[in-house]
Amino acid sequence: MNRQTGKLILISGPSGTGKSTVIARLMRLRDDVCFSVSATTRAPRPGEVDGKDYFFVTRTAFDAMVAGDELLEHAEYVGNCYGTPKSYVERRCAEGMHVLLDIDVQGVHQISENRPDAIRVFMMPPSLAELERRLRGRHTDDEQKICERLAQARRECALAYTYDYIVINDDPDVAAKELDAIITAECCRYPDRKNYFTEVLENDALSSHERAGRQGRQPLSAGESGRAPRAQHRRRCAGRG
Ligand code: ADP
Ligand code: 5GP
Repeated sequence: MNRQTGKLILISGPSGTGKSTVIARLMRLRDDVCFSVSATTRAPRPGEVDGKDYFFVTRTAFDAMVAGDELLEHAEYVGNCYGTPKSYVERRCAEGMHVLLDIDVQGVHQISENRPDAIRVFMMPPSLAELERRLRGRHTDDEQKICERLAQARRECALAYTYDYIVINDDPDVAAKELDAIITAECCRYPDRKNYFTEVLENDALSSHERAGRQGRQPLSAGESGRAPRAQHRRRCAGRG
């Protein structure tokens, strides 16, 4: 079967829901996914590593990336800028890797306009009280930032209906398994399987010729064998995949 282009998986949801935690667990379950590291003007939190969690850049450097058309999307979130480097996403998708983006609702909206094939997943906390507990438990934001993030969370949850899938992060292992299942299901869609499908039918038609030859009778026509005419296959296969 031909190697497919990797999928673009947009994971969004209130800050503190557990997106990074669940993404890290998903990456232990599958070796065909990778994470797109964003650029941000936000200061690193204790333990965050430049180039792994984010590319921590100055506002000037961020503006230069925007001006140079280096970002697939970018947005301002609670006073800081965040953006997705374009070249990494394009290269990894072309290599057949599924690329995970942890981005806010504005970024999802921007990408969806040009990439309707992107898979949009909204991750919810089990409750807003639990979200507040997680934000406070992370010890990374002051009181004002926590209030801003909670207010933003309410606005984001109101847009959950615009997504393809909702994952509730109560238990991070269960949430990672749900993400895993979403990716697997998306890979079973007809456009991804059509090369395999037509290959099976072509092989069946060829063996029908062989069987007919051995038995000295006319082989089945394309329609009788369930096979669409070859030229028709080629035209269909010339599309995606
Ligand atoms: P996000 O990437 O969405 O901002 P994080 O992955 O940083 O969120 O998680 C925020 C905090 O919540 C972290 O301290 C993390 O350990 C914790 N956390 C994540 N998932 C769960 C969960 N299912 N139950 C309890 N705590 C969780
Ligand atoms: P945090 O500061 O908690 O790491 O992230 C704050 C918010 O910014 C989260 O909702 C996260 O999904 C979002 N975010 C992180 N990287 C990007 C990005 O590259 N683009 C956009 N649009 N949002 C991002």
